[in-house]
Amino acid sequence: MIEMDKRINLTGLSQAELVSFIEQTGEPAYRGRQIFAALQHRRLQSFADMSDLPRALRERLNETAAASTLTVESRYLSEDGTRRFLMKTYDNLPVETVFIPEERRDTICFSSQSGCPLQCTFCLTAQLGLLRSLTPGEIVEQVIIALNDAYGLGEKPPRGTNLVGMGAGEPFLNFDSLMKAVRIMADPQGLFIVPHRITVSTAGVVPRIRELAAIPDRPNLAISLAAPTDELRDELMPINKKWPLEELLGACREFERTLKPGERFTFEYVMLDGVNDSDEQARQLANLLNRHELHARVNLIPHNQADPLPYQPSPATRVEMFKSILESKGIRSFVRRPRGRDIFAACGQLAAVTQNVGLRVVEV
Ligand code: SF4
Repeated sequence: MIEMDKRINLTGLSQAELVSFIEQTGEPAYRGRQIFAALQHRRLQSFADMSDLPRALRERLNETAAASTLTVESRYLSEDGTRRFLMKTYDNLPVETVFIPEERRDTICFSSQSGCPLQCTFCLTAQLGLLRSLTPGEIVEQVIIALNDAYGLGEKPPRGTNLVGMGAGEPFLNFDSLMKAVRIMADPQGLFIVPHRITVSTAGVVPRIRELAAIPDRPNLAISLAAPTDELRDELMPINKKWPLEELLGACREFERTLKPGERFTFEYVMLDGVNDSDEQARQLANLLNRHELHARVNLIPHNQADPLPYQPSPATRVEMFKSILESKGIRSFVRRPRGRDIFAACGQLAAVTQNVGLRVVEV
């Protein structure tokens, strides 16, 4: 185990920070740039592999810094090629990451926290509670591990990469680390995954939605709604008691007004059989969004059944009916078909630590 209290995780440093860290050790600035490229562009995860660095420097780095801190404990493979990684932090906490192959561009779903403090009743992660928020380095490293696993060490993704922050945790309760990871990953000399290739989903942390609205280079935003009324949303997503729908949708409206061409803003609506999927609820949802003059698309996501949660996915015919009601009222909507990929579906539908329903475990 790495004693991170003594070592600094270099994966969580921007290029400028890494240069300054290296300069403080008496090395020239170009070594810092070299190490940044080794970590973020070549995606090397140990100093030993950086054979273009002098041996003495590598040995010194090993004493004061870490090139990686996460270890992959298991890897699960779905029929359609989706891969889920169960990792452990240096202090032994679970982190889950999903790689989803897609026709046009592969997607990696990363976690922002180990566990989650929010108590959404349809989400298995909620049952873990919050273990801790992840550092910027731990967020970036999930992406590096998934890319290396999918394409080979340092190999360029053939079709580019989309990222979604819909894994475990509420990203907006770890906002600074999230935004730092976003900036590190955007570096053209590193991973070069720009913010508009990233979508972050929130359960509705209103102050951070407002904050994001003022940031020019930002990831796309998705809001997990799950209910058209406060009464039901209080029950399904208790965060609603703190920031009820009026306040949330007011902030969404302000955010929508700041959208620039090419930026995406969506609502996610997990569909729970007999709970939030009636015709009346579809009308309530459409009226709610129309009343707030919101134009964002609604992604309808059939719930991923997972014991011991008391919910079933809405039947396909129900989902279609819900969609047609939304569309008849001018709300654009899209149904995410349940496939292996829907293990990442809504905000935080990653299962808890030992959950691997329908997935094949692969040797690591
Ligand atoms: S749905 Fe997202 S915000 Fe809600 S408990 Fe799960 S991980 Fe947390």
